[in-house]
Amino acid sequence: MSRFPLDETHDPAATSWVVGAAEPDTDFPLQNLPFCAFSVGTETPRIGVGIGRMVLDITAAAEAGLLDLAEAEAAACAHPVLNPLMAMGPAAWQRLRRALFRLLHKDAPAPWRTEAAVSCLVPMAGLRFHLPVAIGDYTDFYASIDHATNVGRMFRPDQPLLPNYKYVPIGYHGRASSISADNRPVHRPTGQRKRPDDAEPSFGPCRQLDWELELGFLIGTGNAQGESIAIEQAGAHLFGVTLLNDWSARDLQAWEYQPLGPFLAKNFATSIGPFVVTMAALAPFRIPAHVRPESDPAPLPYLFDPADQAEGGFAIDVSVELRSATMRAASGQFDHITTVGFQHMYWTAAQMVAHHSSNGCNLQPGDLLGSGTISTPDPAAVGSLLELTRRGQAPITLSSGETRSFLQDGDEVRMTARAHRDGARSIGFGRCEAVIVG
Ligand code: MN
Repeated sequence: MSRFPLDETHDPAATSWVVGAAEPDTDFPLQNLPFCAFSVGTETPRIGVGIGRMVLDITAAAEAGLLDLAEAEAAACAHPVLNPLMAMGPAAWQRLRRALFRLLHKDAPAPWRTEAAVSCLVPMAGLRFHLPVAIGDYTDFYASIDHATNVGRMFRPDQPLLPNYKYVPIGYHGRASSISADNRPVHRPTGQRKRPDDAEPSFGPCRQLDWELELGFLIGTGNAQGESIAIEQAGAHLFGVTLLNDWSARDLQAWEYQPLGPFLAKNFATSIGPFVVTMAALAPFRIPAHVRPESDPAPLPYLFDPADQAEGGFAIDVSVELRSATMRAASGQFDHITTVGFQHMYWTAAQMVAHHSSNGCNLQPGDLLGSGTISTPDPAAVGSLLELTRRGQAPITLSSGETRSFLQDGDEVRMTARAHRDGARSIGFGRCEAVIVG
């Protein structure tokens, strides 16, 4: 039996009375209920849940007694970030999900609640979004074997994939201070750049600014330092998933990465989407983990769990769109650049959690684990410009006729994702987007 059973909140026939929630292509049907932090004007941020074209103010709904919650659970909803709720664990998360589902269902049992809930709704358009989670620590993994192989081939043609890859979920510690969820502009970083033919490095603006298309996993409950999270338990420690753009300065990266890995090429900005889609909402979209070829080594026992192999993958398609300043001024439309399937990832989220804590490192509520760039065996379905343009050798052409090897000032990058599976109501992740400024 699944560790992530479906219940009434996953019923594909269920619909909400909230405007826009029944539209077939909405990211936010009743089955989703993703969390955000929002504000109107200059108000203090509050936590909310996306439904149709609206956001439900959870703090207001809890204060009005519209959610069937224990006192401590209602109190946890009265913060500008989700961390207190995340720390309470899956039983509390599930009670809140069910309470929200009942309140927003079109056949809600108590009309007075529906009427009161209307005053807790605000239109999504025009809201300011904020980090929904106070992220204490951020780790970025490298879980796509196709990405690791593509990038390795550019830098080490004789040995694209290093021998540790199939044993170790590779990652590095990122920086939390420069993570944002408000679609703020990204400033082109400056740094040391050295082309292969340059005798010396120079210092100046990054010439090879890139995106990395990723998903971010948020830790709900953590572990004590000195203890570890068994892979069988790892799924219960995860709270939700968000879009993640790990902005990367490729020229800085190529010069600085040896021997200790990414540093200034990565830590200047990381964008996450405004919405956190919960693991509960993703239960219908669990699929088997990527199947290793017979010739690959089996994961070591601490990373191997038959249940995780059976349902540790996710049927999520993640897309990137691009719009230049010229396109913004003309049609306003974005070009679709690529869509990648998350099912190709070599390591599961549970394996990342088990590995991260295996040495006794304490994970904490609100920690962010990036999946790593999501690429696939299809050369057109890869999660970075570095791979799409083969390190700039094969520029892409936009609908405006402009070409891109890497990002130019004024370019806007938009990431979206959609979970879908036969028999389930498809859900989305909203938009993670930012414009590059010089
Ligand atoms: Mn990355």
